[in-house]
Amino acid sequence: MRRILTAGRYFREKFGESVYKIPISISGFTCPNIDGTVARGGCVFCENESFSPNLEHNQSKRFFLHPTSENPYLEFQLIQLEAQYKKTKTILSKKFGAQKFIIYFQSFTNTYAPLATLKALYSKALSFEGVIGLSIGTRTDSISEEVIAYLAELSKHHEIWLEYGVQSSSDETLKRINRGHGRANIEKYIALTHQYKLNICAHIIFGLPGETPEMALESVKFALNLGVHSFKFHPLYVVKRTALANDFKKGEFSPISEACYIETLIKAIKLLPEEVMVQRVSAGIEDDTLLSPSWCYVKHQQMKAIRKAFKNEGLLY
Ligand code: SF4
Repeated sequence: MRRILTAGRYFREKFGESVYKIPISISGFTCPNIDGTVARGGCVFCENESFSPNLEHNQSKRFFLHPTSENPYLEFQLIQLEAQYKKTKTILSKKFGAQKFIIYFQSFTNTYAPLATLKALYSKALSFEGVIGLSIGTRTDSISEEVIAYLAELSKHHEIWLEYGVQSSSDETLKRINRGHGRANIEKYIALTHQYKLNICAHIIFGLPGETPEMALESVKFALNLGVHSFKFHPLYVVKRTALANDFKKGEFSPISEACYIETLIKAIKLLPEEVMVQRVSAGIEDDTLLSPSWCYVKHQQMKAIRKAFKNEGLLY
């Protein structure tokens, strides 16, 4: 039986106990693919609340950050950060006796803001009791060497992860999903992040428009060759109020089947060296915004099917 290096195992082995992620959504953060800097409308599947349990819709519409703009709302953002940390920490401590935490900047593009804002938020997050590190979700076209160098400094004393949305290695697919950047940009900034010895996690989506399972596996190999240390794998599902929903309704997009997703996932995991961490193998949304596929509705059923298939393949997740 091959034991997959899950996030749980990685952190327990490194820190001697479980480490819990606290997802954070800070008002004012947006994305260059939404605010018009590289495109408008975002990736075809993007309805960002889908990924962000802490997102506060009304607050986020008040103002939007840009890396070159002033940020008059920093004090409010710092208060918001602390409130979200405290709320989730209390729940995790009561439920699991959790003592160590990673602050996960999850919603939108979390390096797309003035450097002073990033420094203030990251250093505040690291000052909270029990917090041993940060995980920062972003795009490879929204990070600078200055930010990478700052994070590398932090990583001398903390567990710092950069999570890049890679999604695909195909320029054609990246164009089709309106990603706003191409493969060359991914290569350039992952290589730079690697030079600074930061931990890198790549998000890869299976079932993208026009992609075959072979293309998805090429994306996994591409990220592996760039030296990423961890993966998050997701099936593409369709939610309301997205460009993908329109394509789906017109019959121009069919989601990946559960069987094909699991088969591709197993092939992908078999490509990974044992020291590469697998942080996620499923994705879904349990509310009425999900249009399709229905197998992405109940996450624990999805995980049950995945674990069963893994077991048949001698993989322990
Ligand atoms: S990069 Fe993320 S936040 Fe930006 S448009 Fe794409 S999915 Fe949405």
